[in-house]
Amino acid sequence: MGNTYQRVLLKLSGEALMGDLSYGIDPTIVQYIAQEIAEVVSNGVQIAVVVGGGNIFRGIKGAAAGMDRATADYIGMIATVMNAMTLQDALEQAEIPTRVQTAIAMQEVAEPYIRRRAIRHLEKGRVVIFGAGSGNPFFTTDTTAALRAAEINAEVVFKATKVDGVYDSDPKVNPDAKRFRTLTYSHVLAHDLKVMDSTAIALCKDNNIPITVFDLSVRGNICRAVMGEPIGTIVGE
Ligand code: UDP
Repeated sequence: MGNTYQRVLLKLSGEALMGDLSYGIDPTIVQYIAQEIAEVVSNGVQIAVVVGGGNIFRGIKGAAAGMDRATADYIGMIATVMNAMTLQDALEQAEIPTRVQTAIAMQEVAEPYIRRRAIRHLEKGRVVIFGAGSGNPFFTTDTTAALRAAEINAEVVFKATKVDGVYDSDPKVNPDAKRFRTLTYSHVLAHDLKVMDSTAIALCKDNNIPITVFDLSVRGNICRAVMGEPIGTIVGE
């Protein structure tokens, strides 16, 4: 079975790098994710990654504790750069050429985000990791994933999570919960389903970029998603 997608945008939450820890980064998990990505790259698929920062710092939590929201969000964005660099290190250990581009300039450690350059890297078979979110407070890395996907003409957003798709109720609470195989953007928005935040969904909808939600912890799932296998939930028109 061939690849359905040639260029994908993978959204990894900060929590995905945390494993069973309650904070920070589990190097074993990062290695696992790097291997999963490496497999896709060696199949000739172009992959860009947006990493979150929730394993380290979330602006909204800082604001709830009394911080200025924008300042807290900038800290959150900087946290994502630590995750981006950690993933880069793991990918390079797996011999996958990788570039980190940040939306907040920190040129000693990463390239600044330059759209055309990001595309060029992808064409050369390099993984591009986008750090520092969108560079704007009051946004999320989910929205960044949708934005970057549109900018680099990715054919799909992969939302890799801890569950195997989107359910009509919480499968941990309700044993009869049903997994949706497909969903429309409008349904997700109308029912406030927890796929990605509504700004991200709206951006994908406007640009007709499908979203595949799947369980990252199952080995080979990124490859399956690339081949268009019916794992998880696909959100589209
Ligand atoms: N953030 C932001 N603007 C962006 C992306 C992220 O201000 O464009 C900040 C925000 O404070 C957020 C934090 O960075 O809480 C970490 O990102 P996010 O919560 O999206 O990470 P995830 O939930 O994916 O781990």
